[in-house]
Amino acid sequence: MKQFFLFTLLLLLNISTIVQAFPKHNPVPGGVCILNLATANSAKPRVTYQGKPIAVVQQQQQWKALIGIPLSASIGSHEILIRTANFPHPTTKNCQVKSKKYRSQHIKLKNKSQVNPKGKKLERILREMKLKKNLKQTFSANPPSLDFIRPVKGRDNGRFGLKRFFNGQARNPHSGMDIAAPTGRAIKASAAGKVIYTGNLFFSGNVVVVDHGQGLLSLYAHMSQIIARQGQTIQQGTIIGKVGKTGRATGPHLHWSVYLNGNAVNPALFL
Ligand SMILES: [Zn+2]
Repeated sequence: MKQFFLFTLLLLLNISTIVQAFPKHNPVPGGVCILNLATANSAKPRVTYQGKPIAVVQQQQQWKALIGIPLSASIGSHEILIRTANFPHPTTKNCQVKSKKYRSQHIKLKNKSQVNPKGKKLERILREMKLKKNLKQTFSANPPSLDFIRPVKGRDNGRFGLKRFFNGQARNPHSGMDIAAPTGRAIKASAAGKVIYTGNLFFSGNVVVVDHGQGLLSLYAHMSQIIARQGQTIQQGTIIGKVGKTGRATGPHLHWSVYLNGNAVNPALFL
C-alpha cells in the first residue's frame, strides 16, 4: 500500500513536469511531423529537411524534431538528416507523410487583369513574394515558444489548405486560418517572440510577422491598424494590431499563418 502511494506520488510529480505546450503530430501536407531523436542527456542534435534547419526541442527527456511539411509535399517517405557533435556523418530518419484531402474553391473573375496582374502591379507582387520568401527563411537560435493562443476571438472559416482556382487556373493554396471578426477587434500575438516585419503588402494588406524561435513564425494579415513595432520583443497576448480588410480581402477578418522551417502549416495544430 505504501509503495502504491509512493508510485502514485512519483507519477503525479512526473506528469506536472511534462505538461508543456507542443504542436500535434500530424504528418500530412500542411501538417507537423514530430520525430524522436535522442535522449535529453546527450548533446542537442542538428537536424535538416530539404536543406533547411529544423527546430529541435526537449520534451519528456527526449530531443524531438519539429518538422513543417509543405502543402505541396508528396505522400510517402520524407528524409530528415540528423547530425550529432560526436558523429561526423549524418544519420537519417523518415517521416511518413499521409494523404489529406483539402477542399477546392473555384472563383470566376470578369476582370482578366485580376486573374493575371501586369505591369507595376505585377512588379510589386514579385518584389513582395521575394520579401516573404526571405522572411520565411528566418531561423533564430533561441528555443521556440510553443505555447500558442488564438490571436482573435471569432469563427475559424476552415480555409487552411483550400485549393484555389481563378477562372480555372490553379493558384497557391490558402496558407492560413481565416478568423471572421469585426473591424477594429484587437489582435493578440499567439505566442512570445520578436516582431521581424511590419508593413503593407499587395495581397496581405497591413501585416505583422513574429519570430517565435528556430524557424517558427506567425503572420497576421489584413489589419486595419498595425500596433506592433518592427524589432519589438513581445509576450503572448501582446496586442499587435486590429482586425480589418486591407489588401485582397472581401470582408473584415484575420488571416493567421504559422510557418515552420519555411512551410505554412495548419495553425490549429498549435492550439
Ligand atoms: Zn486568408
